Formats: sequence, structure tokens, C-alpha cells
Amino acid sequence: MIFHSSNQEKTTNIQQLQNSKIIPITILKKSEQTICNYCNKNFSCYNSMNRHVQKCKVKESLQAENDRLKKELMEIKRRIYNQQRKDYKIKLLSN
Ligand SMILES: [Zn+2]
Repeated sequence: MIFHSSNQEKTTNIQQLQNSKIIPITILKKSEQTICNYCNKNFSCYNSMNRHVQKCKVKESLQAENDRLKKELMEIKRRIYNQQRKDYKIKLLSN
């Protein structure tokens, strides 16, 4: 029983070590990042990645989609607001 539990501890230690090795990769400094956040293209250095991002087609289409969704959301909010005002007036009248 004792051996079994100590074996389990060893496994967790190894897993923790493996996990700690993975973490630093995900929190790279900005200047070390060489992969485009938008299309996941890998570049040899940060500068070429940064230059690419300025004209990344995926980024452009994502931003266009984002703007479209923002406008749509504004329109929906406006409609809900107007409907609520209508409902409120009907309530006042029916009382
Ligand atoms: Zn890109």
C-alpha cells in the first residue's frame, strides 16, 4: 500500500514538471512571438510576423466581421430599447 501511494506521488511530480515546462511557452514575451494570432502562420522572427500582421487577410476579415457584428448588436439593442419603451407606454395606458 505504501509503495503504491509513493508511486502515485512520483507520477504527479512528473506531471507537474511536464506542466511547468509547457507554461513558459504560452506566456512568451511580445517580442518573442513569431506566430500570427489571426492565421497561425509561423515566422522566423517577431519583426516579420509584425510586418505580416499589418496586412494579414485573416485579421482584415475578422475585423470586418467584428465591425459588422458590432453594428448588428447596436441595432438589436436599439430595437429592444424601443420595444421596452412601447411596452412601458402600453402598461401605463392599460392601468
Ligand atoms: Zn496572419
